[in-house]
Parts: sequence; structure tokens; C-alpha cells
Amino acid sequence: MNKKTLRDVDLKGKKVIMRVDFNVPVKEGVIKDDTRIKGALPSIKYVLEQGGSLILMSHMGRPDEKGITGDTTMKIVADYLSKMLEKPVVFVPDCANADAEVAAMKPGDIVMLENTRYHKEEQAKCKQKEGESDEDFKARKSALKEQQKELAKKLASYGDIYVNDAFGTAHRAHASTAVITKYIDTSVAGFLMEKEIEYLGSAVENPVRPFVAILGGAKVSDKLAVVKNLLSKVDTLIIGGGMAYTFLKAQGKQIGNSLCENDQIEYANEMMALAKERGVNFLLPIDNIAADKFDPNANTQVVEGNIPEGWMGLDIGPKSIELFSNAIKNAKTVVWNGPMGCFEMEKFNKGTFGVCEAVAEVKANGGISIIGGGDSVAAVNKSGQAPKMSHVSTGGGASLEFLEGKELPGVVSLNSK
Ligand code: AMP
Repeated sequence: MNKKTLRDVDLKGKKVIMRVDFNVPVKEGVIKDDTRIKGALPSIKYVLEQGGSLILMSHMGRPDEKGITGDTTMKIVADYLSKMLEKPVVFVPDCANADAEVAAMKPGDIVMLENTRYHKEEQAKCKQKEGESDEDFKARKSALKEQQKELAKKLASYGDIYVNDAFGTAHRAHASTAVITKYIDTSVAGFLMEKEIEYLGSAVENPVRPFVAILGGAKVSDKLAVVKNLLSKVDTLIIGGGMAYTFLKAQGKQIGNSLCENDQIEYANEMMALAKERGVNFLLPIDNIAADKFDPNANTQVVEGNIPEGWMGLDIGPKSIELFSNAIKNAKTVVWNGPMGCFEMEKFNKGTFGVCEAVAEVKANGGISIIGGGDSVAAVNKSGQAPKMSHVSTGGGASLEFLEGKELPGVVSLNSK
């Protein structure tokens, strides 16, 4: 990686303000999955061991859309972290008002700020309101951007060094993820960020071949740019899940009531032509588990070829599992994003779990397997195969944007080596 990391700076006696991704699922005050907290521990421990003190900040949930609740406060994470580290974590109830707590810090101390998204200027999201003139909208937007700079400046004032270890939000140019770097001299990556970038970066830029990418999930339109970018990099592109049906329809197949984005059919055709032109092995399901309704207790049948009217494909079929698995097992680099079916329902989880088993063999055969965040991570965790993967990413949206070939604001803004 060409960006500086924690290893490149002297931390002794320094106050370190670190953006972490503690956006963990919480229900009624209880953390349901602590993967992201554990992911940040190497950076946290390193700063403390090197004689620094640590101010942690993160967002949790979507308080801007869904409101502030008892399950969006970072106090829950502060208490959890305190137990994990067996030392006090001082909680500050407003991220923009921590001067006193920060001034009192000594080396080895930890402060955790409240949810950065309790301040709307963290994200500075701005949409034109109905009836609002262009001029008023522009003025409102620029005022919000100024407020974002003020918040970033405030956050920067707490530390001597800024560390970004929040890969999961690295695709956002928010006050705490990117704008802050304008107001502090030293901005470096944490170890989790470094690991994510190294795995995804070398897979995409310098893959050991054969390189196989697997895409699934519900929506084609979410993954348009990814498909296009991957077609210039991979040897084989596998498409399963709900998004496969738009491609199958583009090939002239009947897909019944399966998911389909009709406005993407032309794009699907373009991509299949591009795959041919580039010599990419482009694999779609050759059979499907069709259901008579979207329901865990639906009647099902295995269908090869056309899916009858009134039925919908909710998983790939056994022959597709075999076809995909054979391509995957021979790979030296695999990147996987998106399930092969509605794996949340038992009747439709075999495709995803079958592919999961094949991906798990890649590492054992000396290759690299990368699970690119989001639902595929949930599926891999559910299948119990996570330990057999080379890397399970903590960032769904961020890893997708990375695979699209986009620069991530939270990474670009860090100091270069
Ligand atoms: P995404 O967020 O685009 O990665 O989509 C993930 C979701 O796609 C999961 O909740 C799956 O249940 C769903 N999914 C996968 N395959 C299908 C399918 N064939 N039909 C409908 N939904 C699907």
C-alpha cells in the first residue's frame, strides 16, 4: 500500500484520534455481532502499547433516517470495549464537545465519542426539497458543507495524529472519514484498513491467475460498474442470485416471475458481448430452484432452461452449483460478493452454501479467497466456513466500490509514503 500506516509514525505521548467502524448490529442494547469491534483491536492495542492515548469515533446505524434510539448510542460499544480491554473507556455524549475529557487524557487512556452521525454535518447529505429554488438549494448545501468543515476541524483538534481504520465507511467523504485530514498534519491508515486494501488491491490489480469473481444478490443496477470493471480483470465471471435472471432474460430465456430489471437488459447484453470480446469465461446458472411463491414454505421444483409462468427462481440448481464449483476450485484468486439465492430461507440456501464450500477450498489449495462484505459475509458466517477464507471484508459498500475501480475518499485522503 502506498499510504502511511500506524507503523510509520511515532505514537509515544501522542493523542491519536481514530475513526473506527463500530457500526455493529444492536438490538435492545445488546451487540449481536462484534466482528467489526474485534477487527479494530490490533490498531487500538498498538496505539496504547506504543504509549499513545486514543480518542475513538464512529457512526452507528442511520440516525439521520431512522432517528436516534437507545440502540444507536456508542455508549453500548464503549462499555463493551471496556470489558474486552479490561480498562476504562470514557464515554463523551457529544462528539463535538469533548475538550475537557480529551485535555484530561494521559498515555494509555481511551475516550469514545458519541455517534458522529448525531450531527447531520458529519454526512452533510443534501437533497433539493420540493419547491426549493436552485439558488436556495445551492446556498443550503454550501452552508452545510461549511458546517461539515467546522465539525471536521473540531474532531481534528482532539488529536496529534489521525488514524482511519474504518474501511466500512472509506467510500464516504464524511467529516470523520476524509474531511478531517485537511485539518491535521498526520493522517495514516490503521491495520484493518491496511489489510483490507492489501487484499482487495492485490486481487484486483495484481491477481494470481486464474482469477474468478462471483457476483450475486438481488440487484443488477447496484453492481453495474462492478461487472464492467471486473470484465477487464478476471478470467471467469460467475453471476448467480437474483441478478442472474436479468442476464438470462437478455439471452432470450423465460424467467417467469423471477427478479428482473427490464431497464438493464440492454446493459446485460452489452456485458455478455464484452465478456466474449475479452475472452472472459462468463457463467450463468444452467438450472434453478423455482418456487411458486416467495415464501419459506413454497412449493419448489428444479428447472433447467425456461422457468414456467407463475414460478420464480430463488436459488441456483445442483448442476449450476457443480458448474460454478469446478470453476472456483481451480482458481488462485477468488472474490465473492452477493449470495447465489435467498439463503435466508432454508429451501433456497444450497446454492450459496455450495459455492461457499468451493470457495473454502481455494485457500486450502494455496489460493486467495476474499469475501467482499455484506450478505455474502453473513452467508459465510452462517455456513461456518469463514475461518477457511483468506479474507472476509468488513465493508460491503466500500469493497464493492473498490471492485468498481473507484478511489475511496477515506483512503485517498491519507498521507502517502
Ligand atoms: P444484495 O444486497 O444485492 O447483495 O442482495 C442480497 C439479497 O439478495 C439477499 O437478501 C438474498 O435473499 C437476495 N436474493 C438472492 N437471490 C435472489 C433471488 N433469486 N431472488 C430474490 N432475491 C434474491
